[in-house]
Order: sequence, then structure tokens, then C-alpha cells
Amino acid sequence: MASSLQCIDCAQQYPIQRVIYTCDACGGLLDVRHDFGDSSSEISPALFDGRLGAFIAPYSSGVWRFKELVYPGVDDSDIVSRMEGNTNLYELPRVASYAGMDTLFLKHEGENPTGSFKDRGMTTGVTQARILGMERVACASTGNTSASMASYAARAGMQGIIFLQNQQIALGKLAQGIAFGATCLQINADFDRNMELVRLVSEKLGIYLLNSINPFRLEGQKSIMFEALQQLRWSVPDWIVVPGGNLGNSSAFGKGLLEMLQVGLIDRLPRLAIIQAEGANPLYRHFRDGFRQFEAVNAETIATAIKIGNPVNLQKAIRALEWTSGVVEQVSDQQIMDAKAIIDGVGIGCEPASACSVAGAKRLVERGIIKRGDTVLGVLTGHVLKDPEATIGYHADQLPGLSPKHRNAMLQVEDDLDAIVRVLGDRAP
Ligand SMILES: *Cc1c(COP(=O)(O)O)cnc(C)c1O
Ligand SMILES: [Zn+2]
Repeated sequence: MASSLQCIDCAQQYPIQRVIYTCDACGGLLDVRHDFGDSSSEISPALFDGRLGAFIAPYSSGVWRFKELVYPGVDDSDIVSRMEGNTNLYELPRVASYAGMDTLFLKHEGENPTGSFKDRGMTTGVTQARILGMERVACASTGNTSASMASYAARAGMQGIIFLQNQQIALGKLAQGIAFGATCLQINADFDRNMELVRLVSEKLGIYLLNSINPFRLEGQKSIMFEALQQLRWSVPDWIVVPGGNLGNSSAFGKGLLEMLQVGLIDRLPRLAIIQAEGANPLYRHFRDGFRQFEAVNAETIATAIKIGNPVNLQKAIRALEWTSGVVEQVSDQQIMDAKAIIDGVGIGCEPASACSVAGAKRLVERGIIKRGDTVLGVLTGHVLKDPEATIGYHADQLPGLSPKHRNAMLQVEDDLDAIVRVLGDRAP
């Protein structure tokens, strides 16, 4: 079954064995293109449903369950997997009513092996690195990409090299990169500069680049849509809401949804809503401006996973918005952290960036773009333990410029039975 790389701008094709991230001819981004011709007759809900609960690799993975759509020609023995995916889809009425809608599903990608959706892209990216015979892989990261890459590189016996900024990396993420044995470079530059640096260094040293500019990453990440639709019994929601940083995920969603339509798994496309933080909103500005003149921004937000001012997948995200009649919304750090407290408070939890899905959906309902009766599927991108400082800071009311609306303050009580009983009495339900 044939797969190839294809430029999204000039349609120039390249063999998938080429180590190439942008088009030689025009500099455009590349897609991995699959010819579903041979297998499209077997691609069906029944094929994928039949693999649910599989114990045996690769179909036990929520990415490779959809192998015919993800990487049809791959040899199973090349696959580097941690049984990623298989994440829960929660229907959460209390969060729905907070956001002002009747039906809200949240797909929790923080339930992946390293705690973020990045694992879905890393299984395909590191598999491709193995196919290409790579010994070293690298990425620049706000944290989760490096945590995931470090894990998968270790599994594959490769050296993982991560470029981190020297401030504002969430503790959980930093700990993972170090723990999984990656070579960690802390560099005095923001994410966008680190992204430039890692591209230059990778090219110079022949290291395989695993940021989401690598189109194999997106092939894995699009399985979030496959799995969510499978969980919804292939009935299409009205909206998919997702945070946007480097815009790899939203780009992957657009591609995956279109492919599902092409092979007949779904009969219409949902609308995509990409949510950015106000302080890191280059796509939002560009959207509002009718995609005329793009300007990068200096990113600043508490949601460090999306603190990105110059997203590499911009053109693919614009394409996904066009395919799906999508919209872009922005939310403040206050709205992000308040929405996070609601998601956390129902016992599910997520990291700050993930809460954009709920905060953004709420804004879109307020603005009349999402209707109360619409079916909405939001994606929670990362685990609640990734950024403990943000969570504790919120509930301790110690985040500069923010005031917690949904605070769960710690109670200080003396070593005294009566005092403890009194405190709990005051707070009886
Ligand atoms: C990477 C990441 C994002 C941003 O995704 P992009 O594909 O870069 O737009 C959002 N949330 C979390 C938790 C992430 O790790
Ligand atoms: Zn091109």
C-alpha cells in the first residue's frame, strides 16, 4: 500500500523514506498521504470495533487499532508503542452546564502513558525514526513533547535530545524528560527560538526531528478523532473544540476527519473550534483579520503548553478551519484557570492548556456561535499532575493577576479533636 509525502502548497511528492520536513520546491508543509484504494473496502466500523479490547500489539493501541488509516504499509515489528490512546470519553453534565450547553463530551488525552496526547504522535514519529534507521531524535518543547519523546526514544533504544526553555516548564513535564534519560538542554530562549535552533542542529547533525512539523506525528494524533468517533458510535458531533499552540493537533484533526469522510466512516464533518490563550493568540488574530497578514506574537500565558507565538503548523490549521467551517476563539488566563477548577472539581482534572476547550466552548456559547443544543466534543490534552504549581497557586490565591472563582483553599487546623470536628461541622454538606 503506497504512502508518500506531499507538499500542501504545490503538491510536489516525495518518497516516505526521505528525511524531509518541508517542501524542497516551495518550503510548504508536508502531509503523509496514503492511498486507501487497496484497503478501503475493508475499512469499516466493524474492522475497528472488532479490535476493541485486543490484548495483542499493535491493535491493543488506540492509535494502531486504526493502522489502515494511520500507516497502512508499516511492518508491525517496526512499531514503537506504549499502548497509547484508549482514552476515556466522559459525558459531564456539570461541566456542560458551566459552559452553557446541554451535551458536552470530554475526551481525556491526559490518560495517555506519559500524560498527554503527544504519545499518539510519538508512537508514529519514533516508529518512522526506527524505519529510517535513526539513532538520535530531537525536539524543542514546552514540556509535553519532550516528556513523550524521551519515553518513546528510551523504548526504542535511541538517544532523545530535548531543547527546553530555562523558565516556566511545568514541573511534572521536566521531571519526565530527565527521568526517561533524555539529553536535556536548557537554553536561554523562548519556545519559538528553541524551535528554530532544534531545526538547525538536527539538520547539521543528521538528527531526526520530532516536533509536530514532522508529518508522521500528525498521523498518530489524528487517531484522537478516529477513537472519539468510534466511542460516539460513529455519530458526528456538531463541534470539536481543541486548544491550539503549535497547531499540530488541530491540523491532525482536520486531516483525520476528512479521511474518515473519504472512506465513508462518517457522513458529514463536525465544525472545528480552535482555542488560544489571549497572550498567545497569533492564529486568533489571523482568523479575525480574514487570514490576510500573519504576525507572530510574543507569547505569555499560564497555559505553558500553548505558550507559542509562531506556530509551525499554521497553514495546515488554516486548511482544517476551511474544511470544517471552523472558528478560532481566545480566552484569558482567568477563564482558563476557572474552567480548569470546574473540570478538576468534577474529579476528572487536566492541566491549564487543556481547560481552553471548556473555557473556549463557554465563550462560543455566550457569543451565540455554539448553540445550547449542539453536541460538543472537547479534548482535554494533558493530565492534572503535569503542572501542580498552577493548580496549587490557583487554590492558594497566589497567582499574580488572577483571583480564583472556584477556590478550594487548604484549611489549617490545630492538633485538636474538637477544633477538627468544628471545622468539619461548619462544612457539612
Ligand atoms: C502540545 C499541547 C497543546 C498544544 O497542541 P498543539 O498541537 O501544539 O496545538 C495543548 N495542550 C497540551 C497539554 C499540550 O501538551
Ligand atoms: Zn511545495
